[in-house]
Amino acid sequence: MPWQVLIGNVAAVALVISVWMHLHYKFYRLSKVQAELGFGLMMGLGAVLSMLLSVEVDSGYYLDLRSTLLAVSAVYGGPLAVLMTAVLTCVQRISMGGAGVEPALISIVLVSVFGLALHFLFGRGSVDVRKALACAVMVATVTLAMSIFHRGGWSHITTVSLAGIGVKFAATLAAACVITYFHAFTLERDILKAALTQAPDFHYVKDRNSRFVVTNLNVARNHDRTKSSEMVGLTDFDLYPREMAQAFFDREQEIMASGEALVDFEEPLVEENGRERWFLTSKIPLRNRHGDLVGLAGVTRDITEKKRLIQEALDSKTVLSQAMTEMSDGLAMFNPEGRLVFCNDQYRAAFPRSAHARQPGTDITAILQAVVRSGERVDVSPDAGDDWIETSAAQLFLTQDSEIPMFDGRWLRQRTRLAADGSALVVVSDITSMKHSEERLTQLALKMKGLADTDALTGIANRRVFNEAISEEFARVRRAESSLSLLLIDVDHFKAYNDTYGHLEGDNCLRMIGEILRSIAKRPSDLAARFGGEEFAILLPGTDRDGALRLARMLRSALHRRAIPHSESSKAIVTVSIGVANICDRFATPAELVSAADQALYAAKKHGRDRVEAAAHQARAA
Ligand code: GH3
Ligand code: MG
Ligand code: MG
Repeated sequence: MPWQVLIGNVAAVALVISVWMHLHYKFYRLSKVQAELGFGLMMGLGAVLSMLLSVEVDSGYYLDLRSTLLAVSAVYGGPLAVLMTAVLTCVQRISMGGAGVEPALISIVLVSVFGLALHFLFGRGSVDVRKALACAVMVATVTLAMSIFHRGGWSHITTVSLAGIGVKFAATLAAACVITYFHAFTLERDILKAALTQAPDFHYVKDRNSRFVVTNLNVARNHDRTKSSEMVGLTDFDLYPREMAQAFFDREQEIMASGEALVDFEEPLVEENGRERWFLTSKIPLRNRHGDLVGLAGVTRDITEKKRLIQEALDSKTVLSQAMTEMSDGLAMFNPEGRLVFCNDQYRAAFPRSAHARQPGTDITAILQAVVRSGERVDVSPDAGDDWIETSAAQLFLTQDSEIPMFDGRWLRQRTRLAADGSALVVVSDITSMKHSEERLTQLALKMKGLADTDALTGIANRRVFNEAISEEFARVRRAESSLSLLLIDVDHFKAYNDTYGHLEGDNCLRMIGEILRSIAKRPSDLAARFGGEEFAILLPGTDRDGALRLARMLRSALHRRAIPHSESSKAIVTVSIGVANICDRFATPAELVSAADQALYAAKKHGRDRVEAAAHQARAA
């Protein structure tokens, strides 16, 4: 066997594989189909080259390494690649002619088919040494099988052909291993490249003179360039205004001179359009394996948006705390566990005796304990127990308004509102002046009511109150089936009194009679009222007819004792006539009761005045 030719063959295989590796590296942007066809073509050309260098070992039988390239094309390239290689190989073999064309074509087909089987068995992209070994074993097996078949049995296999099979096995294994290694290497490189290109940050490596050696695509795009290769060799002086570039340059030179990395350095950069952008930069000095400084690697991140958000948050925090400080109300926030999270000074000032306890982090229970101990709240006794504290602490988480009377006379309104996250917001306002006006208003209202209810001259109830009272008592007495009596009183010869003593004296006289009425109607339920003019009424709930008559006589005698002079009266003193009526079934309405009393009064007048008369039918009924 001519060894030179064999070596030439091996060299041909090595050549095509290394050429492919270089081209593949260069044309990594090719599509998958293009790459597969390219690989098939390359392997096919290698096979043709190998066949041109083949040795005719037997008449019509050639030894070359075409099956190595075919197998590699099938196993590592796939169907399209092996089709390309197989067609080229077949054409070349047919054109060479000779006796062995037919078995040669069969062996081409066999290697292609088995190669494809391995391709799919191991998976397209797998980088596995076992795949390389299987590829070599497959080539050796097919060649051996074809030799046995061709020579008509194992016994006819010569040492030369065995050596040939060995060479094919070794060459295939070597080629497959190289491709495996190369695949693993490109995979790693692709990952690194993708990581660098697709990273959202700016990545770059610079040499000792701050010239870009490598950048990722982001850096190129940021400087209006489409490819990262366009950045190579540039410096910051080509990209930024002189002053700025000088600052960058100086800093980088310092990093390299000192050997100290710059980590997370934040800096603003004003663009040409005046827009300010913020960047976060880390730069590390790079050394070669001898320890010499060779350049630096940098990562820069655009943090403009992050900066803006932080600034916004800070601004709103300032506004909020300003508002909290300047508002007149006290404000406090408790977390869902009942701890004070924050409060303003006004909140503490509102509770001077428990202010020391109202500090962030303090539990509401501790605050309430301080309130109890200090006697700060008028409505909380200093010996209020844990029950009160527990109840009040629970009320922190109820939306409610409460009014708190303080030890120093102040009144506070405490409004509690719940936030969505379960924390409680407490707003405390001083309502002392409001409370005071409220009190004044209540007093005024009471006074007004009193004025509206009393007769201005005598100070006893007026007719309106009498009317209301008689309706109420009437209904109540009918329900309870108890008694109700009414006295109607009219001053005798009062017109003459006025005429004699004057109207003012008349008023005085009425005032005195009012006093006597008040002293007679002593029970809380009794009501003495001025009925109108010089007529009076006394309503006596729970008093029967006899009781009422007794009271009427007492009134008459009291007036006698008072002895207000009245020269025009036959008795020489002021007297009254009294009509008495008592409720009974006949009186369906208060008006009927009044009317009955009025008739009795009329009778008293008729029978000589200064007397007491009971209603006629009432007397009959009794
Ligand atoms: P009689 O014994 O029949 O009741 O005689 P009389 O003079 O009292 O008659 P009458 O009841 O009709 O007179 C009522 C008088 O009372 C008329 C009025 O001048 C006087 N009078 C009514 N209201 C007042 C009042 O508020 N002040 C004074 N000074 N006099 C009043
Ligand atoms: Mg009268
Ligand atoms: Mg009268």
